[in-house]
This record gives sequence, C-alpha cells and structure tokens, in this order.
Amino acid sequence: MRLTDLNSGREIGANCLLLEFGGLRYVIDCGMHPKFEGKKALPRLDLIPGAVDGVILTHCHLDHLGSLPLLIRQNPGARVFASSATTLFARRLLSNSIQVMKRQREESGNEELPLYVEPDIERVENALAAVPIANPRKIGRGGEEVTITFHLAGHVAGAIGCLIEHQKKRHFFTGDVHFQAQRTVEGANFPRQPVDTLVMECTRGATPSIPGLTRATEEARLIRSINRVIDDGGSVLLPAFAFGRMQEILKLLDETAAAGELVDVPIFCSGLGLDLCDYLDEATRKTKQVKFSRKILSELGIRSLSRQYTPPGKNLPEQGIYLLSSGMMVEKTPAWRIAANILDHEENAVFFVGYCDPETPGGELIGLPPGGEFKFKGLDHTSILRAEVERFHLSGHADREELVDFAKSLAPRDIVLTHGDPPARAWMKETLQKVMPGCRIHDPEPGVALEL
Ligand SMILES: [Zn+2]
Ligand SMILES: [Zn+2]
Repeated sequence: MRLTDLNSGREIGANCLLLEFGGLRYVIDCGMHPKFEGKKALPRLDLIPGAVDGVILTHCHLDHLGSLPLLIRQNPGARVFASSATTLFARRLLSNSIQVMKRQREESGNEELPLYVEPDIERVENALAAVPIANPRKIGRGGEEVTITFHLAGHVAGAIGCLIEHQKKRHFFTGDVHFQAQRTVEGANFPRQPVDTLVMECTRGATPSIPGLTRATEEARLIRSINRVIDDGGSVLLPAFAFGRMQEILKLLDETAAAGELVDVPIFCSGLGLDLCDYLDEATRKTKQVKFSRKILSELGIRSLSRQYTPPGKNLPEQGIYLLSSGMMVEKTPAWRIAANILDHEENAVFFVGYCDPETPGGELIGLPPGGEFKFKGLDHTSILRAEVERFHLSGHADREELVDFAKSLAPRDIVLTHGDPPARAWMKETLQKVMPGCRIHDPEPGVALEL
C-alpha cells in the first residue's frame, strides 16, 4: 500500500488520505479545514495523480466530509462507501456547508465561494453505497481488488473504522474513535487481531488523563455547574458541534431532568442541531448504529434560537441554557454570537463540552484570564471576560492511553499517525517508540507518499 496524507498540514484540518494498491486508487475521507475559508480549506486533491476508484467516508463531521463534493465532481464514477447511518446524514451536513460558504462570501466578498452547489451534493448522494458493519466486501476493478470491512468506531453516529486487506496484507484505519459508550452510540467495537499497518488518529495525544476523572463524574460536574449558575441568576452557553455532541448533551439533560435533577429553565438550540435530531431519530429506527429519539426535544421543551440577536455586550433578555453550534465557537456561528451577550456579565458561564482547537475563538477563550479582552471581529465589539469559563472532559475521542493499548493489541509493523496537532503526534510517536520497539512509527509529511 502506498499512503499519502493529503491534509495540507500536520494537524486536524482537511482530513484526507490517498491509498494506492497496485493500479487501484482509494481515498479515505475528504474534509474541509474548519479554520480556513475558500480553497485554503481544501485537502491537496491536486496531488491525486489520476482517477479515483472509490472513497471510504468514516463519518459525517465536516473535517472528514466537507470537500467530498469536489472530489466526486472530479471523479463522477467513484462510489462512496459508508455506514448506513452515514448515508442518511451526508446530504444534510453538506447542504449546511453550502449555506455557511454563501454567508462567508457575503461577508468577505471571496468570489471562490461557495466551492460547490446543490447539484454537486446530489452527485455525492447518488455515489453513496451503504456497507454493512463487520461484513467483508470486495471492491476493485480489472481483476485487481481489495476487501474492506467496517467496524463501528463509537465516535459519533455512524462513525466507522475500516480494515482493508490487499494481497494478504492487513491495514486498519481507526478514523475518529471513542472506545467507551456514549449516550447516543456504543463504544468502538474494533477487532483485536494482528495487522500489518495501523493508521491511527491521535487527537488527544497531548492531553494527559486526570486520575479519578470519568465520563460519569464529568457529566455530574457539568450538571452541578449548570444548576449553580442558573440558580444564581445567570445563563449558560454550551458550545457544541451540531452533529453528535449536541444530541449527546440533549440526552444527558433529558435523563437528568427525568430524574428531577435539572433546574427548570428554558433550553435554546440552534437550527442545524435541531434538524439533525430528526436525522438521528431516523437512523435509530432504520439502523442499529444510533440511540436517539426526537421525543427528547418535546420532553425538554426545547426552543429554537431567535434570529433577532441582542446587541453585543448587553445581557440576554431571557435566562436559559443555550446549547448552540459551533463547538469551537467559530466566528459568525450562533455560539460565537451569543457569547457576545454572555462574556461581559459575571453571573453567566460558558461551558465547553468538546475539543477546541487552540487557534479558534473557543480555544482563545479557554486560554483567556478573567478580566481579559475578547474581540468579536465583525461585530465591532470587545468583551471584558467576567463570565465563568470552564471545560468539561466529554470528548468523543479516545484517551491517548487507550490508543496505545489498542495499538499494542494489533501488533502492527507500521503505525501511521493522523488527525492530531504536532504536540499530540509528538507524544504519541515517543510513547509508541518506547512501548513497541520493533514497530516503525510514521508522522507522515503531508503530500509525501509512504510505502507500507
Ligand atoms: Zn469526527
Ligand atoms: Zn475528525
């Protein structure tokens, strides 16, 4: 196998891997960088030397899916292999991506935008092929073939890892993975048989685990904190990815409310996250890959966020829990805009419940000391941070120790690191070299092929 990382930097951005097996050419994921705009946000599709035979889509987060319409426009014959749940979500998330790009164009005047339009999404929809879980499937062309087998990855609804077998060699790709059960998905169910190559995400490679901290203790701490802020008259902003994290938090709030342990206050959600609740409900009924019911929305009396924003700096007119996208508080998103009404007021709080890239507004806010200045570009407003800011460790990504254990159980000859910032990759490389001395650890140079 020849593997080329087409992500343009060693980071979590436009995730995209090119795999070549003899004359066959496959791509795993084709994402869009959340921090960049326009063509800068794309993976290096220009480095693909010819027609692509197929695409494996691990899940529907935009850092894995966002550029797929362009790849399929270039390769109209390529099929997109995905879990059945993923085939239900892809179109809705790509349509939202068009809306975001159109808005960016209005604001920045960038004429490249949107990078694709509805007919491109239709082409993706037509190319999608659902592959059953734990069921080997041969794909190929002209007498050459590989066998792909999907395994649920526990990261978000429909997420998979993939085993690819080619000429007696076994290559396993984790995709984004979470080994413990969450509320909307079971933990990863990966095989533990030996492989030749392990291609592994390392999102949390630079995050030491905290002794005694579990998902249950973090959830309890989050609920206690929400109750305290609301009881003291404040509002809580929970920035969350619209797909996955938002439904996880809704389910947590619902189960807490049913136990009589949640304060009684209005809960507001943003549009895409609410829409996706319907899609997760549908996937729950049609597949065994998700556990979510739209009933939760009526049980919690969820209200959709008004498009009439309060002027920046002024406190929100209605006290509540604001569960809004995006998780990293990317500029112009509902979470970012509502933060402009939250930060100046000491009774309020912002609670982060997922991963934040340090260079996004969310990451910047986490690093800001109390009393610091937070600039809202485009709103002409600077907040003085008086609200409480706290992080809760409810990530959808595996702990670094779990990843090391998983790597050991597969005993590969080569490990390729992906989906991590430089410090995460560095820790992972050093640790794996120590505990698996016979194994070659690769932190691939973007755009440079590795022979495996
Ligand atoms: Zn993801
Ligand atoms: Zn990802």
